[in-house]
Amino acid sequence: MSKKNLATIAVRGGIESDGQYKAVVPPIYLSSTYAFDGFDQKGPYDYSRCGNPSRDILANTLAELEQGAHGIVTATGTAGMHLVCQLLNPDDLLVVPHDCYGGSYRLFVNLAKRGAFKLQVIDQTNPAELDAAFAAQPKMIWVETPSNPLLRITDVKDICQRAKQHNTLVAVDNTFLSPVFQQPLTLGADIVVHSTTKYLNGHSDVVGGVVITKTAELGEELAWWANCIGITGSAFDSYLTLRGVRTLVPRMKQHLENALALVELLDGHQAVKQVYHPSLPSHPGHEIAKTQQQGFGAMLSFELVGGTDQVTQFINALAHFSLAESLGGTESLVCHPATMTHAAMDEAAQLKAGITQSLIRFSVGIEDKDELVDAVKTALAAVKI
Ligand SMILES: *Cc1c(COP(=O)(O)O)cnc(C)c1O
Repeated sequence: MSKKNLATIAVRGGIESDGQYKAVVPPIYLSSTYAFDGFDQKGPYDYSRCGNPSRDILANTLAELEQGAHGIVTATGTAGMHLVCQLLNPDDLLVVPHDCYGGSYRLFVNLAKRGAFKLQVIDQTNPAELDAAFAAQPKMIWVETPSNPLLRITDVKDICQRAKQHNTLVAVDNTFLSPVFQQPLTLGADIVVHSTTKYLNGHSDVVGGVVITKTAELGEELAWWANCIGITGSAFDSYLTLRGVRTLVPRMKQHLENALALVELLDGHQAVKQVYHPSLPSHPGHEIAKTQQQGFGAMLSFELVGGTDQVTQFINALAHFSLAESLGGTESLVCHPATMTHAAMDEAAQLKAGITQSLIRFSVGIEDKDELVDAVKTALAAVKI
């Protein structure tokens, strides 16, 4: 199979597929239902929960970007994770990282509490904890790398090699990097999940998700479940998300370039205690990131010198960044994990996860690089230390 460049896949997916009017950009099929050709003669589509042409074009494009066999577009990223959980029975063990996305953690813990499956929460960067977890013969291991908000890196290839020996499925949440910077299926994973809300749509105007499988068999099983539990994505959201995907590659390049400029400014600045970004040689996951990623990503976090007073001074003086949760849009966002994204954790749990009051997270957008650098420089100068 010839390997197309990612930018070509992203731009060309579904282009000129309209047989009726030869529209270059595929139309949105909003119809909920489709007429049969005749008695007992079903066409390619019958009802939009089961299948929809607009959703299928997005699913096929995203599957091709991740080099998977099958893509299933879901209503939210969380719905995609819930879909993957359908593969688990009450006696099956699921192993998840202690620092996974808060919504994932809530979903796994609460489904396990009701007996949907057994759950073990571990630090996946610790080989001893991984050994112990695999000894319990898990049905599936859930990986999220880089993690949020400290950008810890998990070695996907190593986990996939261990998993193979135990017949364990590997599912990877690839939301933070997109297929442009990481392709977990090529590292040995069985399933990739995205919140398309983030980089894939990239414009902060759709909530959505996708599940992509390495094999067609697993894809068909999950597609059956997606219809059964009714979590497939809408046609209109699929159209908008595909529109966002068109520019995925140039966006990711600019996101990264801007992020690296900010890392350079922050690292070693007198108002900054520590910077967390895998591009830094001092980052514990730097070497693994270099081999398993094609780019270091545009999410970064850092600790200011001082506490909440300094955080307030910094955020109040910061231009061009919106104080908001979420990530991956064209616009830059700043977030205070302790009071925003990770507020549901109590203080002890926050500290255990390394989330201090002086930690700040950036989702670096694609505004002008020099103006972002100037904005952060000015805000750092406003911090009284
Ligand atoms: C946002 C996010 C999710 C959840 O996706 P929704 O689209 O908000 O349901 C899952 N994983 C990661 C890493 C995320 O950032």
